[in-house]
Amino acid sequence: MVDGTAEDGSGWSVANFPLVSGVSDKPVLAVDVDGVISLFGFDGPLDQVPGRFHLIDGVAHCIAEGVGPRLLRLVDEFEMIWATGWEDRANDHLPHLLGLADDLPTLTFDGRARFGTAHWKLDALEEFAMGRPLAWIDDSLDDSCHNWADRRDAPTLLVPTESAVGLTDAHVDAILVWGRELELRAP
Ligand SMILES: [Mg+2]
Repeated sequence: MVDGTAEDGSGWSVANFPLVSGVSDKPVLAVDVDGVISLFGFDGPLDQVPGRFHLIDGVAHCIAEGVGPRLLRLVDEFEMIWATGWEDRANDHLPHLLGLADDLPTLTFDGRARFGTAHWKLDALEEFAMGRPLAWIDDSLDDSCHNWADRRDAPTLLVPTESAVGLTDAHVDAILVWGRELELRAP
């Protein structure tokens, strides 16, 4: 199921608004949150954490230093969406914290989300992408994700992150290069 918020604030889904995903001819960029934007598993003293802590829904999240500007390098080149167990809660705080101008479309997973894994995202990703090229940034990519990517007919780029480091400049560079190669290959 794919949900989002229309400009008038009403909810939409692919099921009842089939043109939503088709309005963009940009490649999809699916972005996980935990382990990509909100970091965990890092060592060291508290004054050397790799980001700043923000209280979100009563939970302290270490938002990676510089991750907002990195996403801003990508947001105009792709149709960026949230692909996270946070589901629509991702839009409650993150666009403001990260400096994104707008909320992002949000995948929902009908209760299948499991922290530390990612295979439960595949159906929703496929439904949203509708056969388009797709890049996916996630810290929990496993064999099922790689097998799915290999089977897709459209170009698919998996971008694994380390949960204690998150999205890096090198990831962003690689995603941009991939996107430009797609443009060069376009008829
Ligand atoms: Mg994650």
